[in-house]
Amino acid sequence: MNAESMVDVLVIGAGPAGAMAAALSRQRGLSVRVLEKTQFPRFSIGESMLPQSLGLLEEAGMLEAVERAGFQYKDGAQIVRGDRKVDFEFSQKTCAGYPHAYQVTRADFDHVLIKEAQRQGAEVRYQQEIVAADFSGDTARVVSRDAQGRESSHRARFVFDASGFGRILPRLLDLDRPADFPVRASLFMHVEDRIVDADFDRNKIRVAVHPEHDDIWYWLIPFSGGRASIGVVAEDKVLQTYSGDVSQRLNALIAEEPGMKRMLRNAQPLWPEAREIRGYATAVSSLHGPNFALLGNAGKFLDPVFSSGVTIALKSAALAVPLAHRQLQGETVDWEAEFAEPLMLGVDTFKGYVETWYEGALQTIMFSERRPQRVYELLCSVLAGYAWDTENPYVGRSGRRLRALAQTLRDL
Ligand SMILES: Cc1cc2nc3c(=O)[nH]c(=O)nc-3n(C[C@H](O)[C@H](O)[C@H](O)COP(=O)(O)OP(=O)(O)OC[C@H]3O[C@@H](n4cnc5c(N)ncnc54)[C@H](O)[C@@H]3O)c2cc1C
Repeated sequence: MNAESMVDVLVIGAGPAGAMAAALSRQRGLSVRVLEKTQFPRFSIGESMLPQSLGLLEEAGMLEAVERAGFQYKDGAQIVRGDRKVDFEFSQKTCAGYPHAYQVTRADFDHVLIKEAQRQGAEVRYQQEIVAADFSGDTARVVSRDAQGRESSHRARFVFDASGFGRILPRLLDLDRPADFPVRASLFMHVEDRIVDADFDRNKIRVAVHPEHDDIWYWLIPFSGGRASIGVVAEDKVLQTYSGDVSQRLNALIAEEPGMKRMLRNAQPLWPEAREIRGYATAVSSLHGPNFALLGNAGKFLDPVFSSGVTIALKSAALAVPLAHRQLQGETVDWEAEFAEPLMLGVDTFKGYVETWYEGALQTIMFSERRPQRVYELLCSVLAGYAWDTENPYVGRSGRRLRALAQTLRDL
């Protein structure tokens, strides 16, 4: 086995959380090695960004590169059910921060981010899969395996696990816990969309609810260059009732939503076969441990419906890196109070939105004509990713408040 030189910070995974952690660590003068299982560019799901993520990317010195990359501009979200339609305009948000974002092919976006981290001095090694980790000593020891099966041993003073659904430290250290959501799944495809409908707004993600089932929904995420990502989300057991291959099942579901069916009538698939991802909600017993922290999906993932994943991933890195830096300088850090709790404020916000979305309460609020304008603006803020803004009453443990509001609107 190869024994590699010691680094201050070792990052597992080169997705958004890993790239952000690498760049922010470099800004603090730490030596950084990123070990990534695949070779970039590589496909990843999660293509609609939220405005809050732009401020975070700016903090990491990555925003200019993202702006130069020519991604599709995004200024809001359109929610549709049958003939009811509501546009959430991010410009109507109540807090400071960017009012726009981008919709991105993640192969390109993630590559831009990690190249920026590299430009800032991070060492990035591809095709290095982490297979073992030991945190019993003063420094961490991590073992990676390359494509030829050769193993290398790395020593680091601190490790960020940003391995996404790989969830490498939760698995190796037995931190995995069941998520408190039903097992949902998604079928999706990239298309050349050829949409000609005059009422289609390319600057928004379009989220459509199934005409009969509150808990089945579709995304239509336009990209630049006339392409789009399309997908459907439902409980896995529901999607299993559709027969055929993945593309046939996706097409059958699209045919059930009149707007998707109409708009995509001329669409051409860009992949030979649609893809499927199942059971992605994740939870852990702890987001940190001796000399490590879990970032992004390696720690927590809720649900795709409000496009919060990348924002949470970036935010987790922005919270964790300054703490790791302080710890490496000899300070004592209370990781629960200074990392897990602040991070969970935003995660809990989105959790309340996800739960009430599938229960139907949030949809009642969204489509209600009696919804006060102020509520609309506060919802715009959260949908723009500003889920850590404590001035917003619909931030934090938001579920109870949203359910109460939905009930009031129903009673009216
Ligand atoms: C159906 C669906 C739709 C979604 N839509 C959106 C959306 O519109 N907007 C949004 O913001 N989010 C969305 N998400 C969530 C989004 O995909 C994730 O939250 C986001 O990619 C998390 O980033 P990350 O950096 O934590 O992990 P990832 O982006 O998954 O990066 C992890 C990296 O770690 C690498 N890795 C894994 N295992 C190992 C190992 N053992 N050793 C070394 N490297 C390893 C992987 O190859 C990968 O490159 C969606 C998720 C799903 C399931």
